[in-house]
Amino acid sequence: MKQVILTLNAGSSSLKFALFPPEGDIPLATGLVDRIGADGEMRLKDGNGGALPLPKGGDYTSHTRSLATALVALEMSFPGLSVAAVGHRVVHGGPDFAAPVRVDETVLSALDRLSPFAPLHQPHNLAGIRAAIETFPHALQVACFDTAFHRGHSFENDAFALPRAYFDKGIRRYGFHGLSYDYVSGHLAMIDPDLAQGRVIIAHLGNGASMCALNGGRSVTSTMGFSALDGLAMGTRCGQIDPGALLYLMQQEGMDGDAISDLLYKRSGLLGLSGLSHDMRELEAADTPEARQAVGYFIARIRRELGGLTAVLGGLDALIFTAGIGENSAPVRAAVCKGMDWLGLSIDETRNEQNAPLLSKDGAKVRVMVLPTNEELVIARGARRLVADSERPAA
Ligand code: ADP
Repeated sequence: MKQVILTLNAGSSSLKFALFPPEGDIPLATGLVDRIGADGEMRLKDGNGGALPLPKGGDYTSHTRSLATALVALEMSFPGLSVAAVGHRVVHGGPDFAAPVRVDETVLSALDRLSPFAPLHQPHNLAGIRAAIETFPHALQVACFDTAFHRGHSFENDAFALPRAYFDKGIRRYGFHGLSYDYVSGHLAMIDPDLAQGRVIIAHLGNGASMCALNGGRSVTSTMGFSALDGLAMGTRCGQIDPGALLYLMQQEGMDGDAISDLLYKRSGLLGLSGLSHDMRELEAADTPEARQAVGYFIARIRRELGGLTAVLGGLDALIFTAGIGENSAPVRAAVCKGMDWLGLSIDETRNEQNAPLLSKDGAKVRVMVLPTNEELVIARGARRLVADSERPAA
């Protein structure tokens, strides 16, 4: 078999992976190992979503063992597998990594030093890289960053108004979901190159949620900042919050850093407001006042950011919805766009119900679209590029 590309997205107790051929956008297989270290299990599908066979008695006690089990499973369906590169999703690339990079010891140490900036994600991403180095010692390891797409923002879009020394220490806005924005803006450039050169807002609405303002295909600013907590309310994350509220929790309620972290990352957002679920589908189906308020808050923040980002861009040519909620929830999209005619934004109800790629009414000034995201493909393309670079003879 020709050399293939494996993409990995390692979380605290999960491992998402996809196997891509040397060329083309359709994966040969996609898989997920869940509950690593507990009662782990794997799901594996082919490129059309059909189930692929799994080995009996797989070992899911660690990331390395889960990856080894995944490799056995992939070998069963794709014998003679030869992995040219493993592309890794890495949440934080700091102020400097603006593109995919080949991982060596120096890069790994640099990424390790960024772990305090994303303590809930980065260490797991790096555990995935170490597991892949062990499992595929001859493959190129490539790190692809959620922050990279946002490098190049102006100072006012990157800074907080703290004393300068804090900016220099890295206390600044990085922006996240960059792999998704990279894919969606690239896809828009393929289907409508002129529009992609204009003023575009992409709303990535999944369990994590953020919005990005783009001009000429480049990120100008995003609602996520220093961490993946800022901006929109999310499944379990709070989104924008007055820092004074955190001071109060620390000083008056005696909460320490761990307790606040647990509150803001895991118990807030849709889950915290509804007291019911982090999951939009469940909240849309539930008929409680709290569920309605949670969804209402989620939508209100999106509308507020839409106004702010449009002002930053000096107008709007396109609004694009993506990720689980953005791609599937007609009610959320309708509520976000309601009464926005003043902005030239109005959507067709039937198109919206059908999740059609184009939602805006014919003749509306702002094009509103649904474009499914594909972060794995962006990682695979990044890894392919570095494989091609490594095979090019030195000049
Ligand atoms: P992640 O950020 O974990 O990748 P996803 O992009 O898969 O998350 O988005 C998950 C969210 O999408 C959940 O809140 C889920 O309820 C929501 N979602 C998926 N399908 C629908 C649907 N048909 N209607 C409303 N919400 C949906």
